[in-house]
Amino acid sequence: MLHHLNPPQREAIHYLDGPLLVLAGAGSGKTRVITQKIAYLVNKAGYQASQIAAITFTNKAAREMQERVSPLLEGKSGKGLTVTTFHSLGLQMLRQEAALLGYKPQFSILDASDSFKILSDVLATTDKQLLRKTQWQISSWKNALLSPDQAKATADEELSHAAARVYQLYQQTLRAYQAVDFDDLIKIPVELFDQHAETLDKWQRKLQYLLIDEYQDTNACQYKLIKQLTGIRGQFTAVGDDDQAIYGWRGADVENLNQLTKDFSKLKVIKLEQNYRSTVRILRAANQVIANNPKLFEKKLWSELGTGELLHVTATHSEEHEAETVVMKLQAHKFEHRTTYKDYAILYRSNHQARIIEQYLRNQKIPYTISGGQSFFDKAEIKDIISYLRLVMNEDDDPAFIRAATTPKKGIGNTTLERLGEYASAHKLSLFAAAFEGGFQQEVGNKQLDDLLTFCRFIQTLQGRAVKDPANEVLNDLLNAIHYESYLYDGEEARSAETRWGNVQEFVSWLSKKGEASTEFGHESDGKNLIELTQLVSLITMLEGREDGEPDAVKLSTLHAAKGLEYGHVFLIGCEEGILPHTNSIDSDQIEEERRLMYVGITRAQKSLNITWCKKRKRAGEMQACEPSRFIAELPKDDVKHFGNPFNGPDQVLSKDYGKSKMANIKAMLAGKQQMQGG
Ligand code: ATP
Ligand code: MG
Repeated sequence: MLHHLNPPQREAIHYLDGPLLVLAGAGSGKTRVITQKIAYLVNKAGYQASQIAAITFTNKAAREMQERVSPLLEGKSGKGLTVTTFHSLGLQMLRQEAALLGYKPQFSILDASDSFKILSDVLATTDKQLLRKTQWQISSWKNALLSPDQAKATADEELSHAAARVYQLYQQTLRAYQAVDFDDLIKIPVELFDQHAETLDKWQRKLQYLLIDEYQDTNACQYKLIKQLTGIRGQFTAVGDDDQAIYGWRGADVENLNQLTKDFSKLKVIKLEQNYRSTVRILRAANQVIANNPKLFEKKLWSELGTGELLHVTATHSEEHEAETVVMKLQAHKFEHRTTYKDYAILYRSNHQARIIEQYLRNQKIPYTISGGQSFFDKAEIKDIISYLRLVMNEDDDPAFIRAATTPKKGIGNTTLERLGEYASAHKLSLFAAAFEGGFQQEVGNKQLDDLLTFCRFIQTLQGRAVKDPANEVLNDLLNAIHYESYLYDGEEARSAETRWGNVQEFVSWLSKKGEASTEFGHESDGKNLIELTQLVSLITMLEGREDGEPDAVKLSTLHAAKGLEYGHVFLIGCEEGILPHTNSIDSDQIEEERRLMYVGITRAQKSLNITWCKKRKRAGEMQACEPSRFIAELPKDDVKHFGNPFNGPDQVLSKDYGKSKMANIKAMLAGKQQMQGG
């Protein structure tokens, strides 16, 4: 079983004498240590799968890990094994302990735009910048485990004083809605464990061994959860790489690596140095770029996978030209090397960069999947349907109530809703409950009341069905009852209505597939009912968007979402000052985190790496000249070949090769076509 492991990996897997930290660079087999260690714990060390929890950073990583572990569990069922994200684990705890906390198990999980709206109400403003700042501030406080009162005490300026007051009102609103936000999913369990020793004890006995991947990106709140769960036994393995810490903006703190050493005096540290992912050139590039950051821990990384191809850095004229170049190079490379689409990834700093690449891929009929965006769940039609589901689960969810009651329009007008809102807040009721109050009913006309009550009763009918009928049946009946399809066709031109209706159908089938069986919640591997599915959807919405199931497709992803993954051939686009490193980071002196992002990007590649940048880019409606990213200059010169003729880039990027390579590409493409036709 322990084939394909080097001695330090083996040592890490066998080590059970206490807390263990595996600290190593990219591609050195840290995640492999986790999957193999789970198998070792179950097959050799006498643990039950249900006593083990492995925590990763994204749903996708959790899925991959589960897939890798299952075949290793020698015939024994891995039943009850928890492979999950921090947020899913928190959700699982919250749901089980809801009663203790005064929540109903069907509490809602609000997405960022819901909390944005609540903040906008609380602050009585539409100033987006102020709202975003407040939202970020509240999130930081939560991740640092500060209550509104504590936040007030630490606030040192007028603005954060105001924000602390808003934080308090915001929390009260969430409470009233029986809702939690993203940060609460971890913060509330931590508080619960602080206050209820017997509950903590129960969870400690349940989860006897913890394994944590991507440890460098845990924030204070997540770290505390680990500490609570592992208790004095400290039976855990954390793996991480300080050079890949890229969630500082979300409150993650690399200091947590140091903190481990302080909190666990018996902490054992194992380092891995062999990289099994990338060619020597790619690895050298990564090492050389990251060497410009001050070091936290000394690490070496070497590879036996051969020198490999030169890295390509291409200067392009515009975003369009960049997209065209990338797609053309990708096709030529695929023809030449007889690879498949899924061997390729196109990575970028920010979501918006994907749009134009998507367009060119579509033009060329190249299949692709996109992750890290929230495009699918953010679509109006999907949010409409989710609002019904949320309301069915939790009638106190006022944001969902308003959206569902008014989409499609069903005779419930704004005046009625305003009256309802006033009555509800005066009597501290949810909108739903207020609709049934005599006091309110006297205030509105018969017709208005009828429409409102018809809607509420409709929701009640669905509530009854949600707990017993299959999810897709309930959903389809819901869609029929609200005439959602004709609503789309009435409001839009046929083609866009068709697309939207297609999305809704896809959502229904996606949900019902999820309802059949899943591993996302560890031991709840049986089919999920609509209640669980709705919470699952909220979680995915916030974490990373939906994963498409296209089997052979080019992967489009943000650098953040590509963490931990690997691809044969990587295109890293938009390597310009202002994009990577991002403007905000340049302004706020966060270059080191941007450099770590670059490091993450480079180290995703196994065999080839293509870096592109634009000499001009449209910003605020105007074409503006761009500078190549400073990280390009940090690449080892001997490992890089430059393409393009930058009229405003630094000398080192000048090259006459662009035309030549274009010809070579076309030749390669033709050769590939002949092969295809011949074969
Ligand atoms: P990252 O820092 O990017 O998360 P990682 O340290 O988690 O990387 P893995 O993803 O576990 O690295 O491993 C990188 C690649 O090397 C994987 O394809 C893995 O299967 C392979 N690998 C790991 N260890 C070995 C080994 N001992 N022998 C052969 N291949 C290995
Ligand atoms: Mg990993």
